[in-house]
Amino acid sequence: MTTVAAYAAPAAKAPLERTTIERRAVGEYDVLIDIKFAGICHSDIHQARDGWAEGIFPMVPGHEIAGVVTEAGPGVTKFAVGDRVGVGCMVDSCRECDNCKAGLEQYCVKGNTGTYNAVDKNGEPTYGGYSSHIVVDENYTLRIPDGLALDEAAPLLCAGITTYSPLKHWNAGPGKKVAVLGMGGLGHMGVKIAHGLGAEVTVLSQSLRKQEDGLKLGADHYYATSDPKTFEELAGTFDIILSTVSAPLDFGAYLSLLKTDGALVNVGAPEEPISVNLFSLIGGRKSLSGSGIGGIQETQEMLDFCAEHGLGAEIELIAASEINEAYERVLNSDVRYRFVIDAATI
Ligand SMILES: [Zn+2]
Ligand SMILES: [Zn+2]
Repeated sequence: MTTVAAYAAPAAKAPLERTTIERRAVGEYDVLIDIKFAGICHSDIHQARDGWAEGIFPMVPGHEIAGVVTEAGPGVTKFAVGDRVGVGCMVDSCRECDNCKAGLEQYCVKGNTGTYNAVDKNGEPTYGGYSSHIVVDENYTLRIPDGLALDEAAPLLCAGITTYSPLKHWNAGPGKKVAVLGMGGLGHMGVKIAHGLGAEVTVLSQSLRKQEDGLKLGADHYYATSDPKTFEELAGTFDIILSTVSAPLDFGAYLSLLKTDGALVNVGAPEEPISVNLFSLIGGRKSLSGSGIGGIQETQEMLDFCAEHGLGAEIELIAASEINEAYERVLNSDVRYRFVIDAATI
């Protein structure tokens, strides 16, 4: 065990504070990562404030991790000391079920092991990226290509893969019209990636406040959902609507924007169940679906794709002492577009 510095929420809803945690000794297939940057994901705030389920406290959030390997176990073959690496939302899974074997570890039937707020195979709680170091099995570690700056790469480990995976699954590409609903941390990556894949991209945002940014990041069109004319004008337009919002939506209204066979895919989720009139699916063979992060191989593919297309996240770099203030700003949608913690300040 090694004692390392971290920022933790000591209890649900308590502000995060500097502390120390124990990391396990580097095992045969583990790498020790010197964390350089950690992104702040909206779900960090949900979990630190216990909005989803019973959290494990103290909690060290952070599942958008970028750093450098400083030690590798004797059995490690994929990484060496000095490699630039990332860790996303999971650090293990059963490795035996059909989903794990198919590279869909995120949907492991026994449940994947979350990077934080989870319990690992040894019965120990996992602690995330708001920390100076982390020990991770090489099979759940990603390579960050040289073409990506580590600070701009960190948010790709959650926001990037969460949008890339459904866009690929529902075949976003040339000739396809994709709408990205919401222009936050996830949405801005959705716009960049959908554009990179060659789709015609429309942002649907509450207001036109971020229009200039959206168009700069690769959107072809930008509409305000607060304007009822948007729904008239865009009826039957899209092949895919990627919803990144977690506020309750009028699903009927959004489903009316899909073409026949179109899909509305949710990567954000309201805390309460929703109500949908299924006739809005039946009249057009439409799908209402969801998607969660991506598998390890697909996450690597996403990082390689983003490096090739120069698609880092748009970030605001902060010191660890600013985490609590950053949380408030995220809740007020006051960030363009991802806070990233400089781990040297932890
Ligand atoms: Zn996340
Ligand atoms: Zn599994």
